Amino acid sequence: MRALVAREGAARIEHRPIPTPGDTDVVVRTTAASLCSADVGGVTGEFAVADGTIIGHEAVGVVHAVGALVEGFTPGQRVAVSSGTACGHCLNCQRGADGHCGNTVWGAYSSGVSRDGSLAEYFTVPHATRNLAAIPDEVEDAIAVCVTDTMASGTTGPEAARIPLGGSVAVFGQGHVGLGAVAGARLLGAGRVITVKARPGGEEIATALGADICLNLSEHDVTAEISRLTGGTGVDCAVEASGVMSSFPRAVEATRIGGTIVVLSSFTGTPDAALSIPLAQWGWGIGDKTILSTFARTGSERLARLLRLVQAGRVDLNPLITHRYRFDQAEQAFADVAARVPGLVKPLICF
Ligand SMILES: [Zn+2]
Ligand SMILES: [Zn+2]
Repeated sequence: MRALVAREGAARIEHRPIPTPGDTDVVVRTTAASLCSADVGGVTGEFAVADGTIIGHEAVGVVHAVGALVEGFTPGQRVAVSSGTACGHCLNCQRGADGHCGNTVWGAYSSGVSRDGSLAEYFTVPHATRNLAAIPDEVEDAIAVCVTDTMASGTTGPEAARIPLGGSVAVFGQGHVGLGAVAGARLLGAGRVITVKARPGGEEIATALGADICLNLSEHDVTAEISRLTGGTGVDCAVEASGVMSSFPRAVEATRIGGTIVVLSSFTGTPDAALSIPLAQWGWGIGDKTILSTFARTGSERLARLLRLVQAGRVDLNPLITHRYRFDQAEQAFADVAARVPGLVKPLICF
C-alpha cells in the first residue's frame, strides 16, 4: 500500500505492507482523510515523530480486517475513528481524562505519533471496540472526516464549560479546532458567539458554523469590543483555542465574573514559561472565574453522538473543506498545511 511517511523533516509517499490486525484491532481501508497542524508539528520536530512513521490521525473508511476479540464490526462496514484512540482502562481513562491515555499528556494522540497513523491506503485502529463508530448512511465520508478531529476536539471546550442556554461565548483562535468550538457552542445553545483571531479572513466560514460576530486583533480593540457587546459584563465562557500564550490573559479579561475560561489548546512556549493572569480582571483573586483545561475526548459513544448531529442536519460541516487533493497529491497537501496557505482550513484527501 502507499502511505504518507515522516522522512527527514518532510512528508513522503512510500510503500508499506498492508497491516494485519492484532486481537483488539481493526484494519480500515481508507476512503477519505485530512491533515492538520498537529501532523506538521510532529514531522517538523515539535513532537519528535520517528523518521519512517506513517503520519495522520483524521481518517475514515471501510472495515477491512477484524481482530479476534473485537465486537460489533464486520468487513465492509463504513467506519470513523476519533483523532485520539484511548484504551479505556488505564488510570487517566478511568478518571475521565482519556485524552491523556497511558498516563501521559496527549497520550491518546498516538496515531501518527507513537505508532503508524492513518494517512495510508490502510490503517490500524487500536482498542477498536471502544474507538470505532459506524458512519450513518446519510453522512458522507468527507464530512465524517471533519468529525474525527475538528468536531471531536473543538466541541470538548464548550461541553466542558457548561454554557448557560442563551449565554455568550468568545472563541479565541480560528484554526479548525476553534471553528469546531464555534459549532459546539452554537449546538449547545449559546445565544451569542464571538470569534477572535489575529488577522481578518475566514469570517464566512466562522459565520456558517455559528459565529455571530467575528473580531480580529489587527482591526479591533478586542477587549473593549467584547465588553461593549456584553453590556460591560464579559462573556459567560471564553474558549482559548489559539495556542498562543498572550491569548490567555485576553480570554480571562473577556470572561464575566462567575464565568468560565476553558483552554482547549496546548501552548507553544518554552517549558519553563508561565501564563499570566491579569489581577484586576481576575477579580483580585476572588472573581469566581473558573479556569478549565481539557483535551479532545475520545471513544465510539461520543463519536457516534457527533456523527448523529450531522445525520440530523443540526450542523453543516461542508464549509470547513476548503481544499481537495487525491492521495497521490498528499505531499502537496502536507506542504500547503505547513506553509499555512491563506484560506486553507480542512484539506480533504480522497483515496
Ligand atoms: Zn488533526
Ligand atoms: Zn487509557
